[in-house]
Amino acid sequence: MSNNNFQQQHRLFRQTVRDFVKTELLPNVDVWENQGYVPKSVFKKMGGLGFLGLEFDNKFGGAQTDFWMTLVFAEELAKCKSGGVGFSIIVHTDMSSPWLQKYGTDHQKSTYMPEIVNGKQVCALAITEPDAGSDMARIATTATKKNGYWIINGTKTFITNGVYGDLFFLAAKTNDSEKYHQNLSQFIIPSSTQGITVTKKLDKTGMRSSDTAELVFDNVKISESNLLGVENEGFYQLASGLQRERLLASVMSISAAEDALSDTIEYLSNRKTFGKFLKSHQVIRHKVSELATEIESAKALNYMAAELYSKGLDCIKEVSMAKLHTMQIVRKVAYETVQMHGGYGYIRELSVERFARDYRLWAIAGGTNEMMKEIISKNILGKIESD
Ligand SMILES: Cc1cc2nc3c(=O)[nH]c(=O)nc-3n(C[C@H](O)[C@H](O)[C@H](O)COP(=O)(O)OP(=O)(O)OC[C@H]3O[C@@H](n4cnc5c(N)ncnc54)[C@H](O)[C@@H]3O)c2cc1C
Repeated sequence: MSNNNFQQQHRLFRQTVRDFVKTELLPNVDVWENQGYVPKSVFKKMGGLGFLGLEFDNKFGGAQTDFWMTLVFAEELAKCKSGGVGFSIIVHTDMSSPWLQKYGTDHQKSTYMPEIVNGKQVCALAITEPDAGSDMARIATTATKKNGYWIINGTKTFITNGVYGDLFFLAAKTNDSEKYHQNLSQFIIPSSTQGITVTKKLDKTGMRSSDTAELVFDNVKISESNLLGVENEGFYQLASGLQRERLLASVMSISAAEDALSDTIEYLSNRKTFGKFLKSHQVIRHKVSELATEIESAKALNYMAAELYSKGLDCIKEVSMAKLHTMQIVRKVAYETVQMHGGYGYIRELSVERFARDYRLWAIAGGTNEMMKEIISKNILGKIESD
């Protein structure tokens, strides 16, 4: 699908990322799937090529380009046939560090941004807790001010890049107000700070090349200058950044779905049953037509939401719709592409088998499908009276 927002510089950049994925990622993803993390050297290589600070200020090492460049990056990254590799990288570039770009002071940016952009420091977003995921306003981790420092106590779980990452973008409660939306703040914390422990490396169904941690913060003492943005405004700061996360999750998922369908078409063109190629059976042909159509519909919705987002317009409803619709299509593509491979589709490490495991995640992470429906219904029907 073409889109008027892609100009010559986007096309050139697409080719550069595509070449990188082909030569540097694809030959190695199986190793990273087995070891359970993406090596730091990959981030450094990508940093060297200018991939890691696409929209960040020039002044701090970024490329100061536009959101469409990021979208191109996400689409091409998703073609590496390992959801976990793309996940780990996009968490670093677009699901954690953008809060520094948006809310950081010049001092914070000059301290952290150059090493984020060159890939020496890998970032993670630490919001979710054992007892609070969808309902992020009710997290229990506290940050208490004491003698000019913040003291952090609590447990975070499901944290991508949490085992090997270097910088945590953490959400914590900074007051006891009953108004849950007004008691969170954001902090930027080096993972080497005393009192932070990786208590579990989580063993996941998919996204196996991204590391996922349970983390305990035990009297972690950080300077007042580690507060990111405004005290007690953390919920709103987080909410504003979630549209980027959701949109890019959708963009990557549909790009990977396209790839899964393309691999399947290749298989259908080579495998024969009952004397003819699978692609010549009408039932299969119709299935492929349906999937291709649905992928295009999700892509169109993603681009529409991206258009609003890139212009800084209100897009909460559209991004939620794009994520919901994309994940519903991804579920169908995952089921049907495995099905069309027959028994081979059930064998590790066939690309569609991994796709089905990896991209199952995005109906859960970054806001579940049910939460997307909640947001959409609030936008269309208003709040429920008792809320
Ligand atoms: C592999 C992986 C990586 C992740 N990476 C990160 C990360 O880097 N950083 C981070 O902070 N978090 C991360 N997460 C956490 C993720 O964002 C949460 O799992 C997600 O937000 C859902 O929260 P929960 O798991 O607590 O489920 P819950 O909120 O407990 O929900 C359980 C189920 O109930 C449904 N539900 C909940 N409330 C309602 C309601 N009001 N109406 C209808 N249905 C409802 C949900 O949709 C879901 O189906 C990751 C998760 C995974 C699995």
